Amino acid sequence: MQKGTIGVTTENIFPVIKKFLYSDHEIFLRELVSNAVDASQKIRTLSSFGEFKGQLGDLNVKVTVDKDAGTLTVSDHGIGMTAEDIDKYINQIAFSGAEEFLEKYKDNANAIIGHFGLGFYSAFMVAKKVEINTLSYKDDAEPVRWSCDGSPEYEITKGDRSVRGTDIILYIDDDNKEFLEQARIDTLLKKYCRFLPVPVISGKEQEWKDGKMQDTDRDKVVNSMEPLWTKKPSDLKDEDYLAFYRELYPGQDDPLFWIHLNVDYPFTLTGILYFPKIKNNFEITKNRIQLYCNQVFVTDSVEGVVPEFMMLLQGVIDSPDIPLNVSRSYLQSDTAVKKISSYITKKVASRLEDIYKADRAEFEKKWDDIKIFIEYGMLTDDKFRDAAMKICLVKDTDKRYFTLQ
Ligand code: ADP
Repeated sequence: MQKGTIGVTTENIFPVIKKFLYSDHEIFLRELVSNAVDASQKIRTLSSFGEFKGQLGDLNVKVTVDKDAGTLTVSDHGIGMTAEDIDKYINQIAFSGAEEFLEKYKDNANAIIGHFGLGFYSAFMVAKKVEINTLSYKDDAEPVRWSCDGSPEYEITKGDRSVRGTDIILYIDDDNKEFLEQARIDTLLKKYCRFLPVPVISGKEQEWKDGKMQDTDRDKVVNSMEPLWTKKPSDLKDEDYLAFYRELYPGQDDPLFWIHLNVDYPFTLTGILYFPKIKNNFEITKNRIQLYCNQVFVTDSVEGVVPEFMMLLQGVIDSPDIPLNVSRSYLQSDTAVKKISSYITKKVASRLEDIYKADRAEFEKKWDDIKIFIEYGMLTDDKFRDAAMKICLVKDTDKRYFTLQ
């Protein structure tokens, strides 16, 4: 018999990234575009504080597929990086930081999966080589090129970017050729980047010409939708909520009502939850609520984040306190996530009570549609049962409604 320790070091960190840390390879794009958006917002902030005095220019993020070269490039016009920045944020964090981290948490796989903020390095899940070509906003900054072929060795040379910002160039490996298809990239951007606060451009608008769809010269912006949940409820009208719902869930009946969530202590969370009109042939469908982290789509399977009965609701929840890149079991055991879940329960119950108190006749009219939700909630969630006791109705044979009391 032989016993030993499996050592994780910088030498073998890349295979770990590739195989285990992320279940879904496609999320590399979310990570890179989020970084590009962050860099764009940082320059905007610096400019508003007068720390950057130059021209901001168009702060859009561009995702470009070059099938012939086998590359996928994410470009931004953000703050860029100096050689020192690259050393600090790219080299050290992932190379030394990862090793330390793995050493510390080697007995706790969940913590590793949960906390590994290897955002940028997720590029190596799909690329055999990654290059950064960047120019910092700082005065007299020199352009820098960083390149790494997936081994722990990297190379830093003089770059050739003449305008501020960063290109992340992925040389897509043979197993991941799908990410060189514009259509695949379009789908991913639509999924993850629909609500990002900076325009994300990929490919060209198409037009019907000479009997087929053809590219025009116009850039295609993928994130035209406005994230309604980031606005103040007092600035919004019913029509705004309905229009947002129709965009999120095309082809469905309008919802019965909605709740605009907005909390900044003890955690930050915004969102809009809709009570859908439940059809007679009702079945519990999953994936109704979408989870975001700072407007970046995380997942649409929210088991564990919202109580089970709320899976009947639809809408969006956005919280920077929900950890990205985590397994479901990790999500369920996270204390921030638990608090979020009980907050949402309370909020939903009190909104129902408000509606009941404000207009009982209207509430009765909607009762048949919402009772599945409320009864299911009362049966499965003690806190919700206590809160909903006052508003739970029963109907007699003359179709008159009574409270339980
Ligand atoms: P995180 O985004 O969680 O900090 P990442 O590995 O994704 O981790 O990125 C590490 C750091 O590298 C970022 O915090 C940022 O300082 C820098 N960085 C990454 N991408 C860019 C970019 N496009 N422009 C400027 N800086 C970037």
